[in-house]
Amino acid sequence: MIRPLCVSAYIIASALGPMALHGQTTATERAAAGDVLKEIEATQARLSPTKLADRLTATRNPDRERVMARTGALWDSEMQSLSDWIGRHPEVGWKEFKSVDTLVKVLHHHGFAVETGTAGLPTAFLARWESPAGTNGPVLGLIAEYDALRGTDGPFHGDQHNAQSPVAFAAAIALKEFLTEKKLPGTIKIFGTPAEEVGPPAKKIMRDAGVFKGTDLLVRSHSSDQTSRARPGFGICCLNINEVKYIFTGRPAHQLTSWNGRNALEAAVHFYTMVDALRSTFRPETSIQGVIPEGGIAPNVVPDRAVVDYYIRYPDGVYLDHVSRMIDDAARAAAQATGTQVKIDRYGEYRDGVTLGTLEQAMFAYAKRLGAEKIEPELQRPAGYEETGGVSYDVPGIGVNVFSSRATYHTHEMLDDALGDVGHKGFRLDATIMAALLFDFMTDTPFRDAVRAEHTALRGLFDRYQDNLRKVYAPEIGPAKD
Ligand SMILES: [Zn+2]
Repeated sequence: MIRPLCVSAYIIASALGPMALHGQTTATERAAAGDVLKEIEATQARLSPTKLADRLTATRNPDRERVMARTGALWDSEMQSLSDWIGRHPEVGWKEFKSVDTLVKVLHHHGFAVETGTAGLPTAFLARWESPAGTNGPVLGLIAEYDALRGTDGPFHGDQHNAQSPVAFAAAIALKEFLTEKKLPGTIKIFGTPAEEVGPPAKKIMRDAGVFKGTDLLVRSHSSDQTSRARPGFGICCLNINEVKYIFTGRPAHQLTSWNGRNALEAAVHFYTMVDALRSTFRPETSIQGVIPEGGIAPNVVPDRAVVDYYIRYPDGVYLDHVSRMIDDAARAAAQATGTQVKIDRYGEYRDGVTLGTLEQAMFAYAKRLGAEKIEPELQRPAGYEETGGVSYDVPGIGVNVFSSRATYHTHEMLDDALGDVGHKGFRLDATIMAALLFDFMTDTPFRDAVRAEHTALRGLFDRYQDNLRKVYAPEIGPAKD
């Protein structure tokens, strides 16, 4: 099973064979990754994440134990009921107003300064707390989500996003109290990121606006049907994606004098058919699916506007851009053939993310020590800790995903577990482990240095991997274009 990032419910790992565990799923990717994978292994040998994790979890640092216990107590006394409340008041992406109002009130109550409407997104927020001892310390970041799924009976929290903010709050408040008591410098930021289940990707918009800049470490939790850790490297849950709208504009006219008009729906239909005709020209791992959400209003008026909305997916971002360029050309050709215009709006992009062995092993060691259930010993494929890829490229971090449901993702049964013992226990552990990791990053210099060194090394290797891909594909798709 793959890490549970859920832009899509597609579970593809098992279909991709054993090499998928590395994140490189095609022969081309593997050819490009060959030396890069060896260097990732060399990085691991140098940094020894397992040994580092064993050292951290074997020693019972009394301060850390206290922070972890306090996180659990905050979960029990306040955050579990907050999680249940959000679970019972579901709101879909971009419309999470009641949830955000409630969460902001809780953050104010606990002494955080909160800005809403971050990056121009009405249901995003950024909560900040600066230590009275100064800000000359680490900037610890936590990602919080709260959007529900779109169900046929209305919104529902079948992916347990209701728990994410309360989990993050419990860890953040416990650390804030610790920094205050010990008069240590530092900053804690909680990033309220909306609409994880709906495009365009909010985290990409927030990243482009520089919201995550200056954060030293980011942690995030998510529902999970097992407790596992990922292999270090590059990957993404549901293939690299371009979300693109093709907006055709024509000219209206009466049906009986249609020659006075220019038919945008005809352009859209030609385009849609051309994309189907291109499928054999693309590598078989390409996945293209589209809808025509707008195609005119009335049969007796020539439609002057039509929209085709595609999700274009491929295992790597380099070949994906080639596919996207060819599809763009098809749209322009359809417009030219029909005397219409087309505007191409690439409104969402998801790319491979970076997964760090240092953080994965430490998280897993804590999960085992604390008695997390359904421990999966096999390393999972890397997918970054958030679904857009870019944030994990910029900032080292980890997704903490302790077993929290017996059901699979996006189901009513997963919501039942969110409101019951299985979920409550998993979320409490998520919060406790997040607090421990943030504590260790803040106080344990060798651990912090190892996380930073690994992130720097893997970023460099990621850039080289992209260059390698461009070289390997060049005979087939030509040199890189902008
Ligand atoms: Zn999710």
